[in-house]
Amino acid sequence: MCPTQAIVAPYQLDARRCISYLTIEHKGSIPEVLRPLIGNRVYGCDDCQLVCPWNRFAQITGEADFAVRNGLDDAALVELFGWDEQAFVTRLAGSAIHRIGHERWLRNLAVGLGNARTTPEIVAAFAGARRSSVCAGARSMWRGRRRATAASAERVLMKVSKALTQRRKEN
Ligand code: SF4
Repeated sequence: MCPTQAIVAPYQLDARRCISYLTIEHKGSIPEVLRPLIGNRVYGCDDCQLVCPWNRFAQITGEADFAVRNGLDDAALVELFGWDEQAFVTRLAGSAIHRIGHERWLRNLAVGLGNARTTPEIVAAFAGARRSSVCAGARSMWRGRRRATAASAERVLMKVSKALTQRRKEN
């Protein structure tokens, strides 16, 4: 049931393997060995909640704060990956997702995209014009690849992220 086998024994959970921890709380790189297991979960997981016996008593809330925003329940990862920092801040204001920040959001999306079947849209997203000035190296990593993996996707992102940070320091 748990995609990453984070529940290691009765009443014991290894948070270092939990997708909710890795995509929300964890800073830095997601361990390569876990990336393929994350699938397209880009913010949390909670698959274990589906089998939690207590949740059979749960009711769907009418609380507006819990309603879907910005069509996030039906958005393509590649589309979300295209949000720049301003779009991230504006569209996720008031959402719990907002607190992970734009870079962690992109990191998670990169893992999800790396796990997806490669499409021209995904390759173009990584090689996008907005990033082209800072990620020539990243673009070349993609060139010639027949299939993107989560590992390579995240490596690309880390390169882009480092280049952006460097550029900010220089300006
Ligand atoms: S949230 Fe997901 S990854 Fe974490 S323990 Fe539950 S099922 Fe496993």
